[in-house]
Amino acid sequence: MNCILGKRYSGLGTAHQYITGDRAKARETILNSILPGAKMIPVSCLCGNSGNSDKVLANIDRWGLPARSVLCSHCGLIRVDPRWDDGTYARIYREYFWPLQVGFFDITKERFDLSVRRAAPFAQFLKSHVNLTEKSLLEIGCSYGAGLTSLKETGAELTGYDYDERCLTYGRTFTGLDLRPGGIKEAISDRNQYDVVVLRHVLEHFLNPLEECLVLESLLKEDGVLFVEVPGIFNLNDIGNDPLMYFNVFHTFSYTLSTLTGLMTTSSLTRIYGDEKVNSLWVKGDEGEGALWHNPKHSDEIITFFHSAEKKYKKLQHHGFVKKIKSYSQRLKNKYKP
Ligand SMILES: [Zn+2]
Repeated sequence: MNCILGKRYSGLGTAHQYITGDRAKARETILNSILPGAKMIPVSCLCGNSGNSDKVLANIDRWGLPARSVLCSHCGLIRVDPRWDDGTYARIYREYFWPLQVGFFDITKERFDLSVRRAAPFAQFLKSHVNLTEKSLLEIGCSYGAGLTSLKETGAELTGYDYDERCLTYGRTFTGLDLRPGGIKEAISDRNQYDVVVLRHVLEHFLNPLEECLVLESLLKEDGVLFVEVPGIFNLNDIGNDPLMYFNVFHTFSYTLSTLTGLMTTSSLTRIYGDEKVNSLWVKGDEGEGALWHNPKHSDEIITFFHSAEKKYKKLQHHGFVKKIKSYSQRLKNKYKP
């Protein structure tokens, strides 16, 4: 099936030339040593639709890795289908995700400090919406605790879980915080409930979001609040001008506020705040199972959005090209000035 966004999205091209150094090494190892042994798992849309009317948006992702991203015509959710098996994801997350994401294998204090600075808008958002004084706060997927560090001054009691032991070890040294190994399952088996639970750029990585989100509420106290941040499709500007950069094999599902709401209401959570960045807040409470899943116009909105982003990108590329030619001919003129 052809990609409806065009040839650039169909196979490996030149879009990944920015990948160099440790990032390129990680990518090469994934491509040549890990993926040949991976099993491919078919993935159904979370809305329950059959997939017969899915549209293929891309066959590659931002890292130049093969990833078939499809759009469900029934609800507008984008998913990677098929995806790698759980073991392959786990291995890549453990060994190669960090350099792919950051550009080098080492974890440094400078990088940690940068992450704390980058977490400032998140901290500002949370503080302005939720009173954190003396509250217990849990972050799932806390990495080395930069996000939690940005909340230190609030007086909240901070706990984090992450699967990456290397990040946790550095994080404990950098932050002195209670950072524990594991994810939702481990947090639940520790039998604690929290006033605030944070999922910051984590939910889009869930391999089985219906199951994982269903148990999230057991981590919340009765009047607890869940914060979820995912890279919103309609917020492409945040990742630069190239819409191809949105597609990411590690984002097994990609959300808008509408599709995230479909998932959360299916999981008996009710939205109290949401925008298309996507920043969102949820509390316990059932508003009707999957009430927002059926939204056939949504997939058209998403396609229109991507088409116009692609058009804008090509225009910018063209301007850049014309500018280069002009400056080159100016240089030649100067060189051979009589
Ligand atoms: Zn769907």
